[in-house]
Amino acid sequence: MRNLTCIVCPIGCALVVEGEEQGAAAGEDGFPALTITGNRCPRGAVYAREEVRAPKRVVTATCPIAAAVSANGTGRGLYAPGRIPVKTLSPCPREKIPSLLADIYKTKVSVPVKAGDTVIADWNGEGINVIAVRTVS
Ligand code: SF4
Repeated sequence: MRNLTCIVCPIGCALVVEGEEQGAAAGEDGFPALTITGNRCPRGAVYAREEVRAPKRVVTATCPIAAAVSANGTGRGLYAPGRIPVKTLSPCPREKIPSLLADIYKTKVSVPVKAGDTVIADWNGEGINVIAVRTVS
């Protein structure tokens, strides 16, 4: 038995997942059939199944900016921060997060960049796009 808190909406239902025990009979999808209770809507059951079988997370991090910029072109009065905050548009399988972070940390972003611009497209063929979350001009 496992207790989870559903994070799909702010209600935060307390979920109880049963059926993970070793030797439990497999369901139609080859995984042990799970019994999920405590969810007020079907999305909670979907979340619990995914969390137990293949947990994923939205990843937030920062990328280095390719070159610092200055308002007057002299190189003085630098106003761009050294890094720009980024996030994945979709969740990444948890076991792949270290590899994704390594790629994010070495991706240099050229400015100007707008919030929502893609910084990494289809990372590793996983369909995961990383976007800037702040505009830097
Ligand atoms: S089970 Fe449904 S109602 Fe409950 S927290 Fe999850 S999404 Fe919200």
